[in-house]
This record gives sequence, structure tokens and C-alpha cells, in this order.
Amino acid sequence: MRGDERLVGGKNDNMMINSTNVDQDEIRKFEAFARKWWDRNGDFKSLHDINPLRVDYIRGRTGLKDRAVLDVGCGAGLLSESLAALGARVTGIDMGEAPLAVARLHQKKNGYQIDYRQVTVEAYAEARAGQYDAVICMELLEHVPRPASVVSACARLVRPGGDLFFATLNRNLKSFVMAIVGAEYILRLLPVGTHRWSRFIRPDELKGWGKRAGLDCVDLSGLHYNPFTRHYWVGGNTHVNYLMHFQRGG
Ligand code: SAH
Repeated sequence: MRGDERLVGGKNDNMMINSTNVDQDEIRKFEAFARKWWDRNGDFKSLHDINPLRVDYIRGRTGLKDRAVLDVGCGAGLLSESLAALGARVTGIDMGEAPLAVARLHQKKNGYQIDYRQVTVEAYAEARAGQYDAVICMELLEHVPRPASVVSACARLVRPGGDLFFATLNRNLKSFVMAIVGAEYILRLLPVGTHRWSRFIRPDELKGWGKRAGLDCVDLSGLHYNPFTRHYWVGGNTHVNYLMHFQRGG
């Protein structure tokens, strides 16, 4: 392990000094699919489908042009490139080597200059505290052992008054039926094993971690999908997928 990949300082919730907040099984899972990331109809089809909605949600709530934006758990750069296309100066961090390699290649094709780095958000927060106008962390929290530590690191990275956006999955019976049984086993929207239900996060848990990190929750919205019409929309209930917008007090 490289020094910059360590969790330094032991300042975060429930965190042991020098233990990483990275589940290597999760990283391997995304490495295995890395080549297919930009296949519009492949294993990441659902991420492609929801991407415009996420981008609209973010751009409606924060300025992007010429702003310093951090995409935490950026994968192969699906969201990072959309933000760069709107004029943001984007840094993307992830712990998967293969998705980052795909991201670097893909952005060349499109002429973006996104700064991609393999580093944990906790280590990055030690070096770049307060340097971002917006920090975005989508579909990552449900893949890490200690999500509260990620939220707290994201909070340190954003400048006072800046915006933070999270997207994740709620934990209840409906999300088990819809996101695991329905999406993975019946409709095959995602590869089997993509998610572990026990790692899903209730909105009140996320709100609480944000509050402890000095963040104010300014919006909670549901993200919905009708698999039969392939129609996606934001709003309404937050029983399964949801988005949360925080601001750092300042
Ligand atoms: N945020 C992107 C990709 C989500 S997939 C999007 O929504 O389009 C989840 C990503 O999280 C994968 O790229 C995986 O490599 C990464 N990941 C998993 N655990 C991580 C960790 N502890 N630190 C950083 N990245 C991690």
C-alpha cells in the first residue's frame, strides 16, 4: 500500500489508524467490468440511463462552469465527463485501477482534461481540504465498509459554502425486492452481486453523518425507474434510490 492511500490521522468516525476504508472485493468487481463501462447497453446500462438525471439535479443546484468539482468513486468517468462538458474543472478519484485506465483513455477521445487519481477520499482530504466548490459522490457509499468516513472526508474537501451531492440506495424491504431481486435477478439490469443489501443506507443515517461533519441537508429526492417503459425520473418517494444535496456551513 502506498503512503498516500492510507487513512491518516484517525480523525474519522469509527476509523482505525492505517486501516483503509476500501473493500477489495468491491474494487475487483468493478475492475472486472471496466472494459464495458462505456457500452451504452452493457453492464453499466442503468448508470448511463440515470446519468442525465443526476447531471440535471446537480446543475440545477450548483454552478459548474469554471468551478472545481471532485467526483469521488468516479469509475470510468461517466459522470466526470458530463460535468466537464458543462465547463467544470473536474478531478475524479477512485481506488480501481482498471476503471481509471478506461477513464483516462476515454476522455482523450473527447478532449477533456479531467485529473484522474487513484487515491482514497480520506487520504485526498488530508492534502486538499477546502479546495473544491462541489464534491459529488454517487453510487459509492454502498460499496465501502465505513461510509460515514467517506462523508466526513467529502465534507473536508469542499470549501465553506460549497455543495455536496450523494446518491445511494435506501435499506428496507422494498429496496431488497426492487434493487436486489428485481434489478439483479429478474430484470438483469445489473450483474448479480453488484450490491449487498446490508450495505444500503437509510436517508436519516446519511443525513446524520452529514450533520456530524458540519453539513446541512438542503434536499432529499427519490430517483425512480420504470423498467417497462425505461423511463427514469427524480422526485417523489425515497424508498429505493435517492439523491441528497448538502451544503457546508460557512
Ligand atoms: N460514481 C460513478 C461510479 C459508481 S460504481 C457513477 O455513479 O457513475 C462504484 C465505483 O466506486 C467503482 O468505480 C469502484 O471502483 C469505486 N470504489 C469502490 N470502493 C471504493 C473506495 N473505497 N474508494 C474509492 N472508490 C471506490
